[in-house]
Amino acid sequence: MNATRRKLAGLGLAILVTAAAATPQKIHEEYTRKIREATTDPAFTTRYVNYLPAAAGIPSPLEVLGHIAGAPNILSYSGDVYKYLKALAQASPRVKFFTVGKSEEGRDWVVAAVSDEKTIRNLDEYKSITARLSDPRTLSDAEAQALIKRGKIIYWATGGMHSSETGSVEMLMELAYRLAVDESPFIRAIRENAIVLITPILEPDGRDKYVDVAMAPRKDPKTTITNRLLWWGKYVAHDNNRDNIGLALALSRNIMKVALDYHPQVMHDLHESASHLYISTGGGPYNAWLDPIVIDEWHQLAYQEVDGMTREGVPGVWTHAYYDGWAPNYAFYAANGQRHRPLLRDAGRGRRFDTDHFRLRRPPVVPPQSPAQTVRLVDARQCQPPAERHPDRHELRRGQQGPLSGELLPQRQALRGQGPG
Ligand SMILES: [Zn+2]
Repeated sequence: MNATRRKLAGLGLAILVTAAAATPQKIHEEYTRKIREATTDPAFTTRYVNYLPAAAGIPSPLEVLGHIAGAPNILSYSGDVYKYLKALAQASPRVKFFTVGKSEEGRDWVVAAVSDEKTIRNLDEYKSITARLSDPRTLSDAEAQALIKRGKIIYWATGGMHSSETGSVEMLMELAYRLAVDESPFIRAIRENAIVLITPILEPDGRDKYVDVAMAPRKDPKTTITNRLLWWGKYVAHDNNRDNIGLALALSRNIMKVALDYHPQVMHDLHESASHLYISTGGGPYNAWLDPIVIDEWHQLAYQEVDGMTREGVPGVWTHAYYDGWAPNYAFYAANGQRHRPLLRDAGRGRRFDTDHFRLRRPPVVPPQSPAQTVRLVDARQCQPPAERHPDRHELRRGQQGPLSGELLPQRQALRGQGPG
């Protein structure tokens, strides 16, 4: 157990003790009822996501958009998603919303940051701590350890890379709300120990085009509009996450900008291209230019995820399949690529890694013998008949459980049995 984990576990226990005496938080009755109505099988949900907490003055997606995230037969345009996150940020001091850049067609490309009030107020300080840790050439081990003590894990959840994989975009609105307002010990521990960045839509041009074609027959059953897009971005379709060498696409440059600005230790990119709920370790061969610990920790995180979600009774969570683990053009190399040379020169100190769907970049000076934090790739698509595919409302629940069940494992272990009912 490394220092960060000990810190996380300790804080989790302290929070548990503090919160035990508090009055239970009210739940958002209407939203919770709608979650249950829209969920056709209890296997798609867990105690972490089968309800929504209520918070006075803080709007859920229902209040802003008129429906719950993942409501049957509704997909949200990028403008609506941003409208919700802006409203959440205006109402909650635990959320900050900002525009990072634009897409090719001029749509905003955004990040929402969620943490506790004090951390959000001091976001720049935490950014600078992580930035300093990201370059081991400028730090002694003692300085680095001091920074690790003061710093927080920055976890970056992203959705909507592949526009036909729709659930993550809806889910991330609800997850942002849940992380901002839930007073359960588990979620409070996340707020106190981490900064969660959320980019709900990596490919906003494609999102809006996809919503057009998905919603058209729902608005007019007689429509003859095609149900498949030739392109979803302005220039590219599914290979929009294979652009990390060329950085030809706006989304690639925006991803790189956030990676360089925030130096997040974790990037979790949500997809829906494989059956059941795939947490990637890939199947090799792995890139020899990455530190072996990077690959080792990628596996550790995936197995933590399989373990955590299986314990919560979520069926079909699996790993070790598609993805070669080598190709450096994938989006996750926004992180890996920065450390190639330092890794070669400074093996055992600098490491920074990710996967296409989920990456973790550990502070570079954590001793290599420390147990891993984690990296994993989630690829979620539930077995639903085609009629229920859009929106993938069950993925809404399951997608949230990934971050909640695997990412801050020490807290989860400390709090097992203490979660909301
Ligand atoms: Zn995908």
